[in-house]
Amino acid sequence: MSSPSPIFLSVVIPVYNEEANLPLLFGRLYPVLDALSRRYEIIFTNDGSGDRSFELLRTQYTARPEVTRVIDFNANYGQHMAVMAAFERVRGEVIVTLDADLQNPPEEIPKLLEKIESGHDYVGGYRLNRQDSVFRRWASKLINFVRRKTTNIEMTDQGCMLRAYRRPVIEAIVRSGAINTFIPALAYSFSSHPAEVGVKHEERHAGVSNYSFYQLVRLNFDLITGFSLAPLQAFTLFAMGCAAGSMALVGVLLWRRFVFNLDRETFGVFTLFAVLFFLISVAMVGIGLIGEYVGRTYQVVRARQRYFVREILETKE
Ligand code: UDP
Ligand code: MG
Repeated sequence: MSSPSPIFLSVVIPVYNEEANLPLLFGRLYPVLDALSRRYEIIFTNDGSGDRSFELLRTQYTARPEVTRVIDFNANYGQHMAVMAAFERVRGEVIVTLDADLQNPPEEIPKLLEKIESGHDYVGGYRLNRQDSVFRRWASKLINFVRRKTTNIEMTDQGCMLRAYRRPVIEAIVRSGAINTFIPALAYSFSSHPAEVGVKHEERHAGVSNYSFYQLVRLNFDLITGFSLAPLQAFTLFAMGCAAGSMALVGVLLWRRFVFNLDRETFGVFTLFAVLFFLISVAMVGIGLIGEYVGRTYQVVRARQRYFVREILETKE
């Protein structure tokens, strides 16, 4: 028997409490990939779901074992760890990431592949007609602005997970072993010929977004601190400005008191307290920022295992 052709495509899907979406996802995704008539695999990572997601994935694995692989985490490690675990195991030449909630229609995958085959090693999707809350859209606008100003990553829509990568980009990500890293941005920095395509966006088919406001803040803080030292530098500049302002203020107060002989009763105390509080708050922001970098360094130095796999359902290649 001749050995089978190499796997062309690996589709990577993180799954966290998606029992209501999985049946429809299976129903739409497999036909799209079957129609490509090229060898493919789909890797689902069950990110510690508390619902029946894993049972559904197991059933799907039993139905299509030749193209389905399931990584089962023992607990919830977050979307990016779930994607990383799959990246470490992909067999395909091209890797596509996709959300399980059908916000990115699987029917758009061929569009990404076409772009990849025209010679790009990274194809980012950006959402046409974005179907998210007004708050999420404005938050994204703000974040995009900050990212553009602080890093040199060009990305129309960093929140869109429908993306395609050539294998070497994924290998570079895995080798970098980064913790909590924003995968699309990291991939972008490793690519040599990036491109973007517009993809349709749909409302979450069922369930609610797994991202709370707090998690979004964390993710974006991660993005900025993970790719640039701009926050530290901006802070230093800001602190210098504040120091200069405080000095000037003290000068003005002294001037009023001793040259014009004003403010005899109230001179000093209250104003200096105000200045002091302000400076203390500036110092605290700075300590927090430094803490962020120190924390990241600590995580990398400690090199703790980032996730724990309970079980993998797959057939040998
Ligand atoms: N997800 C995950 N682990 C988590 C949170 C989310 O694997 O801790 C998965 C989730 O199942 C979905 C994708 O990541 O496939 C995107 O999540 P979600 O739809 O909640 O994010 P949003 O679309 O609101 O950005
Ligand atoms: Mg979603």
